[in-house]
Amino acid sequence: MASIFTRIINGEIPAAKVYEDEQTLAFLDVAPASRGHTLVICKQELPTLLDLPPELLAAVSRTVQTVARAITESLKPDGLNIVQNNGTAAGQRVHHYHVHIIPRWEGDHAMSYWRPGESTPDELREVAAAISARLGEGDSA
Ligand code: AMP
Repeated sequence: MASIFTRIINGEIPAAKVYEDEQTLAFLDVAPASRGHTLVICKQELPTLLDLPPELLAAVSRTVQTVARAITESLKPDGLNIVQNNGTAAGQRVHHYHVHIIPRWEGDHAMSYWRPGESTPDELREVAAAISARLGEGDSA
């Protein structure tokens, strides 16, 4: 079954569109965290960051920057959060790759953040080694 975002692309359900090109589409989030909260999607229905070929990732990134500039110039926020969820455990509810642009104003409390944790230098080195080993970079220490 097509994702809700593919149905927007196909014109089957309405959306407040702000930008479109061959590979990407940007429209307002229907349940905005703040005024101007925008979603940038790749038109090809792929679930997560890990599924995107580099050229599509680049196309989405370009659109994110283009739209972020337009939001900044038109709505004059004090800042922007760029949020991108991958997988249900990470809060992804629509499994069609998308990036959130969330304009922010001082003191708006529009988003909550992660709880800063604790780690030891040894733990950090161990985790970095596990990741970098998959990248062929060797020990990052
Ligand atoms: P995520 O949790 O990262 O998958 O975010 C999905 C986002 O899609 C949520 O912020 C929803 O409010 C938004 N959303 C779901 N359906 C629609 C729709 N029909 N039009 C615009 N935004 C939508």
